[in-house]
Amino acid sequence: MSSAISETLEKVRSGGRVNQEEALVLLNARGTDLHEVCAAADAIREMRVGDDVTYVINRNINFTNICIGSCGFCAFRAREGDPEAYFLSVDEIVKRAVQASRTGATEVGIFSGLHPSVDGHTYVEIVRAVKKAVPAIHIHAFSPSEVAYGAEKLGISHVEMLKMLKDAGLDSMPGTAAEILVDRVRKTLCPQKIDTTTWTDIIVSAHRLGIPTTCTMMYGHIESYEDIVAHLELLRTIQGTTGGFTEFVPLTFIHYNTPIYRAGLARPGATGREDLLIFAVGRLYLDNIPNIQVSWVKLGTKFAQVALTCGANDLGGTLMEENITRSAGGTAGQSLEPSEFIRMITDLGRVPRVRDTLYHIRAAHQGEVHNASF
Ligand code: SF4
Repeated sequence: MSSAISETLEKVRSGGRVNQEEALVLLNARGTDLHEVCAAADAIREMRVGDDVTYVINRNINFTNICIGSCGFCAFRAREGDPEAYFLSVDEIVKRAVQASRTGATEVGIFSGLHPSVDGHTYVEIVRAVKKAVPAIHIHAFSPSEVAYGAEKLGISHVEMLKMLKDAGLDSMPGTAAEILVDRVRKTLCPQKIDTTTWTDIIVSAHRLGIPTTCTMMYGHIESYEDIVAHLELLRTIQGTTGGFTEFVPLTFIHYNTPIYRAGLARPGATGREDLLIFAVGRLYLDNIPNIQVSWVKLGTKFAQVALTCGANDLGGTLMEENITRSAGGTAGQSLEPSEFIRMITDLGRVPRVRDTLYHIRAAHQGEVHNASF
């Protein structure tokens, strides 16, 4: 093993904190060093959260793909009038949330494109209507980008927008729209999207208002390893201030149908070595974020299972419908049965647990939920 890697892993095992320079060395691990880094991350995972592998019964509702944005990594957006463009009514969103609840879902994830006729009132109306129809369901909705858009359309501050959403019944937010939180990268990747400071301000404000969020990182496109480390450092700093992140979700870039890849500006996604190291280094670096989630939609179920041996402890949700990764060329499907989660987890000798959005184990409903079928 390289001496720099073994020294860093030894430091972590004795309770030390990985610094940015050391994280860079770990991201460059190759050969047997790769396995050593993954094994160290797996050991830290076991020490911090045990052998449970969690997942949530949920449904995604992407209520429109019509978007004024121009993110180069996105194959989901459509323009008004495009044959594939759609815009669900509030009644249809509520209908899907009710259906989800009836089949055992405890969470609906609601996020979409930035539709030109939508504003902050629309977001509030959606949250209020879903909460009224299904009071028990956890509403996990609206990325920092949507919060900024909704607020801008109403001419109000981000904090006011967040307060309105919380009062309407918003329970938590996805920390998406993060991509890579380095403005130089964002200028090429998603030039019209909120910048790093705005993303950070909205997330910190949400946490201070009692709205927990996830945090994400989309990698494997135009970023460098230094950018990845800068991103992880920002997440760790925010968490050190607010404690509001529930989990870190690495999102590997699905390149096939994306404008930035077709224009020859992005590489064709991360390699398998890089994917595994992102989970491992994420676990080692983010020592104040308890959960590392694997996106089976992005990685496919077989690779997702392997990622569970590199520091991850959560498999996300059953989803029931998924449009964003599928549009980009992902082939893992839109929904995964609980029985398939259980098979992946028990095959590793780990313990499957159904959780709610905030990682409370739903032990009392285990049997009922495990038998759920979509
Ligand atoms: S990522 Fe979101 S904001 Fe960007 S173009 Fe796609 S739908 Fe629009």
